[in-house]
Amino acid sequence: MRQEIRNYLHYLMDLGEEEVFLDQPPMDEGADALMGDRLQTMESLRREAEGCRRCPLGGTRTNSVFGIGNPHAELMFIGEAPGREEDLKGEPFVGAAGQLLDRILKAMGLRRDEVYIANLLKCRPPGNRDPQHEEIEACWHFLERQVETVHPRVICTLGSYSASALLGIHAPLSRLRGRVHAFRGIDVVPTYHPAALLRNPAWKRPTWEDMQRILSLLERSIPG
Ligand code: SF4
Repeated sequence: MRQEIRNYLHYLMDLGEEEVFLDQPPMDEGADALMGDRLQTMESLRREAEGCRRCPLGGTRTNSVFGIGNPHAELMFIGEAPGREEDLKGEPFVGAAGQLLDRILKAMGLRRDEVYIANLLKCRPPGNRDPQHEEIEACWHFLERQVETVHPRVICTLGSYSASALLGIHAPLSRLRGRVHAFRGIDVVPTYHPAALLRNPAWKRPTWEDMQRILSLLERSIPG
């Protein structure tokens, strides 16, 4: 438990937090135990993914990229697969697309350490090619356990592959986004992948509409 808390504090420091306020109301014992359980589950899954060879991507990756964030998050983002920079760093959504995601979070009045971020695949497809069906199937177990563990109120899928995999619907993203779906009782809001927004700035406006939909589901006010 102590090691898990230390890992979480290191994570906050990695994100640039220079101070951690200890004068916040302490969690009750039940909440504290639950937090410890979730951190432990995530840590054991992360170690499992590090050694995973269930699909050929396990032989070509530099690092597995498990996921990052608050295991108690109300909002979880699910992207597609690590890219070059994620593969080198072992962390999801770093680089230009990650910076854009951070700006979107900021506009929502959220910080990265308040949400949980994961990908459909934990290892980088060579040359950043699209995920293949067999790879998604082989890796599904990790994402399923992450969703079960965090059990967020809302999942935001980023890009068409994560939306299709989660919803079991093979349709273009343009037909999936714009409404709220469900996965095992959790609201799901599909939107564009930040990397796609970098290529198509016109999609930023519909993406912001999706973020407003998420804030409304979370009963949070839209920052002015
Ligand atoms: S992509 Fe997933 S299933 Fe394939 S090796 Fe990596 S962790 Fe295992």
